[in-house]
Amino acid sequence: MCVWLKGFTGCSTQWPNCFPPLPGLPGGTNASAPSVGAFLAVRSAGQEPSSSPAMTSRGAARPNGQSQASKICQFKLVLLGESAVGKSSLVLRFVKGTFRDTYIPTIEDTYRQVISCDKSVCTLQITDTTGSHQFPAMQRLSISKGHAFILVFSVTSKQSLEELRPIYQQIVQIKGSVESIPIMLVGNKCDETQREVESREGEAVAKEWKCAFMETSAKMNYNVKELFQE
Ligand code: GDP
Ligand code: MG
Repeated sequence: MCVWLKGFTGCSTQWPNCFPPLPGLPGGTNASAPSVGAFLAVRSAGQEPSSSPAMTSRGAARPNGQSQASKICQFKLVLLGESAVGKSSLVLRFVKGTFRDTYIPTIEDTYRQVISCDKSVCTLQITDTTGSHQFPAMQRLSISKGHAFILVFSVTSKQSLEELRPIYQQIVQIKGSVESIPIMLVGNKCDETQREVESREGEAVAKEWKCAFMETSAKMNYNVKELFQE
């Protein structure tokens, strides 16, 4: 799990016993925990949402064949930003390792990944949103369900950074306060030479919003793993 999310999802602090370690395993390591990268389902759009980090009971097989009722945390990460800044490309680069040059507009896609979190297991649900102003209700819904947010702009477009301001304000308005909400501001397409936004400008906005900042390139696979995973 990436550092900027870890403080929030730290199962040992906020979500105690979310997937109890199986007894008998050294250090409480959960042998049934899939490693990061194991996808449960891709493009499972429209599945059961909840408004706070949820724990669901599941029957899990113990190594000795017995089953136990275990809990799995569900953590919802939402990507927001103007159309064509590279939100889908970042997600696809992370989940499938691919990149496409053509632009295919997104309505809403959801990806799920099982991640190890300390000695527990969490389901990371990544929601890739449309970025279009055509669907304001969908955006509100995504924000109200989300636990953490990646706000993406393109370093080739100052406008795309400016477009994030009302989105950030909407997060503040819907969530009440963003103090306990992990937000990452991302300047994508940093491989491009025709920049309109310098790194220090992104950093300044992140400072103002009291959030983290990084530059990425879905095309060159730069900082993508760091964004979602490390
Ligand atoms: P979205 O609307 O924000 O989901 O944007 P997409 O992921 O669909 O990408 C829009 C366009 O930008 C596509 O043509 C991508 O090939 C291109 N693109 C995405 N990420 C990068 C990047 O890191 N570098 C460059 N040069 N182009 C990118
Ligand atoms: Mg998209």
